Amino acid sequence: MSEKPTYEELEKRIQELERAEFDRKSVEAPAQASDEMYRFLVENSNDILWIFNLSSMTYTFCSKSVEHILGYTAEDVRGASLDDVFSKETKRRIQAAFGAVLAGDIDTNKILIEAEHKHKDGRLVWMEINAVMQKNLLGQPISFIGVSRDITEHKRSEEESRRLASVIRRSRELVNVATPDGMMFFLNDAGKKMLGISEKDVPQTNILRVIPEHLRDKVQQELLPTIYRDGHWEGELQYRNLKTGGLIDVHAIAFNIVDPVTGTLQFIANVSMDITERKRAEAELRESREVLQAVLNAIPVRVFWKDREMTYLGCNTQFARDAGFEKTEDIIGKDDYAMGWREQAERYRADDRAVIESGQAKLLIEEPQTTPSGDQILLLTSKIPLRDISGAITGVLGIYQDITERKTLEAQLQQSQKMESVGRLAGGVAHDFNNMLSVIIGRAELALMDLSPTDSIYKDILAIKTVANRSADLTRQLLAFARKQTISPKLLNLNSIIESMLTMLRQLIGEDIALIWKPADNLWMVKMDPTQIDQILANLVVNARDAIKDIGMVTIETANVVLDEAYCTAHAGSVPGQYTLLSVSDNGCGMNPETMASIFEPFFTTKPIGMGTGLGLAMVYGIVKQNNGFIDVHSEPGKGTTFQIYQPRYVGKAAQTSSEAEEAAATGGPETILLVEDEPEILEVIRMILIKLGYQLLAAATPGEAIRLAEDHAGTIHLLMTDVIMPEMNGRDLAKRLLALYPDLKRLFMSGYTADVIAHHGILEEGVHFIQKPFSIADLAAKVRAALD
Ligand code: ADP
Ligand code: MG
Repeated sequence: MSEKPTYEELEKRIQELERAEFDRKSVEAPAQASDEMYRFLVENSNDILWIFNLSSMTYTFCSKSVEHILGYTAEDVRGASLDDVFSKETKRRIQAAFGAVLAGDIDTNKILIEAEHKHKDGRLVWMEINAVMQKNLLGQPISFIGVSRDITEHKRSEEESRRLASVIRRSRELVNVATPDGMMFFLNDAGKKMLGISEKDVPQTNILRVIPEHLRDKVQQELLPTIYRDGHWEGELQYRNLKTGGLIDVHAIAFNIVDPVTGTLQFIANVSMDITERKRAEAELRESREVLQAVLNAIPVRVFWKDREMTYLGCNTQFARDAGFEKTEDIIGKDDYAMGWREQAERYRADDRAVIESGQAKLLIEEPQTTPSGDQILLLTSKIPLRDISGAITGVLGIYQDITERKTLEAQLQQSQKMESVGRLAGGVAHDFNNMLSVIIGRAELALMDLSPTDSIYKDILAIKTVANRSADLTRQLLAFARKQTISPKLLNLNSIIESMLTMLRQLIGEDIALIWKPADNLWMVKMDPTQIDQILANLVVNARDAIKDIGMVTIETANVVLDEAYCTAHAGSVPGQYTLLSVSDNGCGMNPETMASIFEPFFTTKPIGMGTGLGLAMVYGIVKQNNGFIDVHSEPGKGTTFQIYQPRYVGKAAQTSSEAEEAAATGGPETILLVEDEPEILEVIRMILIKLGYQLLAAATPGEAIRLAEDHAGTIHLLMTDVIMPEMNGRDLAKRLLALYPDLKRLFMSGYTADVIAHHGILEEGVHFIQKPFSIADLAAKVRAALD
C-alpha cells in the first residue's frame, strides 16, 4: 500500500486511459483499454469494493483497499461469510437489509446502511455500506455489488459535537450565542436561570436587556468594539435577572463566530461565570481587613507581624512611622535591615527566630532603640508566635510601647519617695537629739556663768558648748531637709534679701572668685522665711566655691518665669504657674550624672572627711519643697553647674510684716512664768536659766500638774512656757485651759520638732511665739521677753 500513487499520477493515468478509450472508440482500439481503467479504479480506490454472491453466501471479490482499512488482504475476504466480517448483531441487520431487497419489499434494489465492520485486530470500524443487487439474464438475483466507506472519523466528530452540545447545555456557566445585533440565538439552562429567561423567550430577548443601565455604555463603547477589533473580550460585568431584578456579578468571556466562507461576523458567543459570591466574600474580606487595620491604628501601641523568614507582613501606622515610613504598606516585604534601625536588626531578628523556633512567646522585654531621627528610646516589647489553624507556626507578632518617658518619671518618683522617707527618719532623729542638746547647751552655759575664764575648767566647758552648738547646726539642717523647720514666712522681695547678703557671700568665697549679681527688674514677690533664703544661698555659694579650683566666677541671678504644661510634664514635681527663679551658677568642675543623681540625699558628699557634711543640698531641697517650689540642676563635668530654684509667686494681698523679736540682750523681770516640760532634765535646766534671768517660776512635769499649780497659785501668772508635744495633753490645749483662769496669760511654745499643733506644715500661725530647741540662754531670754511684752 505504501506505493500508493499520488493524485497527480492518478489524474495523469486517468487522462491517459480516457484518451485510450477515446482512441479506441475513434480508431477501433482494443477493448481491453476500458477494462484496464476499471481495474485501476477498483484497485486504487480508498473505498472497499466487493461482490457478495447470493448462492454461496460468501464474498467472491474484494478490492485491495480492504487491507489498509480492515487489516485483511483481498484473498482473506474472498470466500468469507457475513459472520467473518460482522458481529452477530450487525450481521442480522445486513441480512435483514439484503432480505428486504430480495423480497422486493421496497421499490429499490439498493441498500444504504451504516454498520461496524470487524477489523483484523479486533476493533470495530464504522463503515457506510452502499450496495446494489445484481440479477442474471433470467432476472434472478445473483449477487450484491457494494462499496464500503470508512466513516469512523466522521462518526467521531459527530459524537464530539454531540458531547460538546451536552456539556454546553449542562454547564454551570452561562453560555449564550447571539446575533451581531444582540438577539439571543441560544442560551443554556444555567443562563436561563441566571437571567430569568424562559426557553420560549430566548429568541425574543436582546442581550442588552440583561445589562444594567449603568453598564450599557461600557458594553457599547468598550466590549463590542473590542470584539469587532480583536475577536474577543474578557472582563467583569453585571447582569440583571429579568424575573427578580437582582444583580449578578460575572466574569465574562465573549468572542465572535465568523462565517468560514465569507468571513463576515455571524454570531457573538459569551461564557459568563457567576462571581457574585466571590465578590461579596472579597468585599467582606476587604472590609474586615479595613476594620482590623483601623483597630490596629487606634490602639496606642506599636503592632507588627512577620512571616517565618522574618519579613514584615503588616503593621499599624504608628509602627510604620517609627520605622521611618509613611504608610503601613511600605513595610510589607521588607526585613529589619531595611528599617530605620539597621544597627538593631540582628538583635530583633534573633528574638524573632527564638520565638518562631521555640513556639514560646517572649513577653515584656525592655530594649533600647535608636529611632530613625537618632533619638535613644526605651521599648517594652512582647513577641508572640503566630500560628495557622492547624497550629503550625507561620511567623511572629510583635507589640511594643515607648516607655522612655514613663521610665524617667518612675525614676524621678522613686527618688522623691526615697528623699521623703530619709527625711522622716532624719526628722525623728533630730527631735531626740535636740532635746539632749538642749540639756547639754543649757548646762554648759549655766556652768560658764558661774565660772571665771581663768578657771581651769572654763575652757573645757566652753569647748563642750561650742561642739554642742555645732551639733545643733547639724540637726537644724536635718530638720530643714525633713521640712520640719518651724518657719515664719514673710512677704519679701528676693532681690533685697540677696543684696543684703552680698558682702557676707563675697567673704565666703574669697578674692579669687568673682561674684556676679544679676537682679531681675520688677521681680515678683514670694512668701518665705528670710532665714531660709540665707540658708539656700549660703549653701549654694559655698558649693560653687568648692567646685572652683583656683579662679572662676559665681553668678547669682533672679528672673520671673511662667512654666507651662509641657515643661511640667517633663519635670516631675513641677506644677504650671508663675515663679520667681533664683539661679546660682559656677564655672567649676561640674558633675557627672551619677553624682547628680545623689546630691540631694542627706550625707551624700564627694568631699574629703571634715570638708563636707553632705547636708547642704539636702537642706536646700527641704527648704524649697517646704515652700512649694522645686529645683532644677544642670551640670556637666568640666563645664560648671547651675542650680535653678523656682519659688511660686505670691499673689495674695500683702500681709503686715510682724517685726522680729528683739535680739538685744534681754533681762528677766518680776513676772511669774509657768514652765511645763515632760523631760525632767530639760525642765530642770530651763528652770535654772529662767531663775538666773530673774523670773519667778512655777515648774510642772505634766499638763495635769500645771493645771493644779495654776489653780492653787495665789498671784498672777504672766507667761506659760510649754513644750508642745507631751503625753496627756498637748501644749496648745493646755494653754486654752489656762487662759480660762488667767485671761491675760501670754504663751511661749517650745519644741525640738515642728508639730502641726501650733504650725501648719511647719509654718507658724500668726502671733504665736515659738522657740526651737536647743537654744542658748540669750535666745531664750530674748524670746521670753518678746512674749511677755
Ligand atoms: P557637701 O557640700 O557637704 O559635700 P552638699 O549637699 O552641699 O554636701 O553637696 C553634695 C555634693 O554635691 C558635693 O559633695 C558635690 O559633689 C556636689 N556638688 C554640689 N554643688 C556642686 C557644684 N556647684 N559643683 C560641683 N559639684 C557640686
Ligand atoms: Mg555643701
